[in-house]
Amino acid sequence: MADMLESVDFDYAIHTENLWRVYKIGNNIEVPALRGLNLDIEPGHFIALKGRSGSGKTTLLNCLSGLDQPTSGTAKVLGRDLAQMNDRELTQWRREQLGFVFQSFGLLPTLSAYENVELMLRIKGAGARERHQRAEYCLDIVGLRNRSNHRPYELSGGQQQRVAIARALANHPLLILADEPTGELDSETAREILGLFQRIVAEEHITIMMASHDPLVDDYVDMILQLRDGQVVS
Ligand code: ADP
Ligand code: MG
Repeated sequence: MADMLESVDFDYAIHTENLWRVYKIGNNIEVPALRGLNLDIEPGHFIALKGRSGSGKTTLLNCLSGLDQPTSGTAKVLGRDLAQMNDRELTQWRREQLGFVFQSFGLLPTLSAYENVELMLRIKGAGARERHQRAEYCLDIVGLRNRSNHRPYELSGGQQQRVAIARALANHPLLILADEPTGELDSETAREILGLFQRIVAEEHITIMMASHDPLVDDYVDMILQLRDGQVVS
């Protein structure tokens, strides 16, 4: 594609320096959600971002995807300094290099599993043949090839999340950001999803950063970052 971003070399999938995000509420109330984070995450790992509700997990993910801007400090993701990109560049970069998985799945209800995955490739401008092959491949990875034609409401919660993971994989992302992806699943289904993430990191050579306060995740991830009040405590 003509519009493809040139790729850049990077040692760290995620690198932050003294990253602050302070929300301003009204004129004089400030909520420091991130307080000087320094992170170096090498590519090819499955990372859990843990910490209780309000510790800053979602804020950090939003700053790493460029959906939110830090108040100060540096965020380099996949070798790019996010502050150096304009909105259009950020949108394109996000589309080409990131995948997202959310707690509530976020599938389009009127589209089949296949169409939900394929839509990402349409947005990217892929041709019909590539769209078809890639969508089938991604549904295969998550074990749902035989549910291609089902709509989200015909699938269980775990199956819907697997479709969402197939969708996140569709554009060959280098980094997947997942925000509480097991939050609405029972523990057995949560384990299936975590095992799937673990396998994807190993087989597809990508990085996954997952916010979660689920104790189950400890068994699956390569590294745990514990957040408390916007700081990494371990
Ligand atoms: P977590 O995802 O770990 O639950 P968040 O990143 O959502 O944490 O929130 C971190 C802190 O920032 C909390 O104190 C929360 O109340 C505050 N916060 C989050 N989003 C906003 C916002 N849009 N405006 C003001 N405060 C916010
Ligand atoms: Mg959150």
